[in-house]
Amino acid sequence: MLRARIEAAAQNASRAADAVTLIAVSKTFGADEIAPVLEAGQRIFGENRVQEAMAKWPGLRDRFPGVELHLIGPLQTNKVKDALAHFDVIQTLDRGRLAHALVREREAGAQLPRLFIQVNIGEEPQKAGVLPGEAAAFIRLCREELRLEIEGLMCIPPADEDPAPYFRQLGDIARANGLARLSMGMSGDFETAVACGATHVRIGSALFGHR
Ligand SMILES: *Cc1c(COP(=O)(O)O)cnc(C)c1O
Repeated sequence: MLRARIEAAAQNASRAADAVTLIAVSKTFGADEIAPVLEAGQRIFGENRVQEAMAKWPGLRDRFPGVELHLIGPLQTNKVKDALAHFDVIQTLDRGRLAHALVREREAGAQLPRLFIQVNIGEEPQKAGVLPGEAAAFIRLCREELRLEIEGLMCIPPADEDPAPYFRQLGDIARANGLARLSMGMSGDFETAVACGATHVRIGSALFGHR
């Protein structure tokens, strides 16, 4: 049903039904609640804490091959090694210190995960992410100086505001910098995000119920 709503939103926006990837956000839910979603065929999941993912995903990965795990919460540099061991995608690259920590791991022989840069699209002091005005320079630093492959941008717009202008702004920044992927839209606003060009939606409560 959720998949059908995503596809309908894509078609309403004249986009292909399969243009949008669903990331099932399983934070706070245990293996017993996640297993049925895996059994239904979902393989792409999001977690916001490294420690929590380490505790529950190795066992689930053993039972269900082909899992792709996205880190969607802030990453401290002292947890980078653990994050690399457990996540396939990091969506929250948001500062030079973290970018340099990733480079050090690569130099030590680690294979880096796929990377999205988080943009603090509403310029909110309590939120992580590079400021919109600093995004181009940060993208350049990552790509040109540090040779990090950047796949796209991620944002969480301000709560209690129309998210559409923020989603469109993230799309503008991505286009201006030659990035094709946009991770935006959660349970309450994913249809708007899809209309604004989201390629990845991160949906928790609409799939798993209330946390
Ligand atoms: C929790 C979370 C989500 C999912 O939120 P829902 O409203 O439950 O769909 C999406 N993105 C991030 C970064 C989150 O932390």
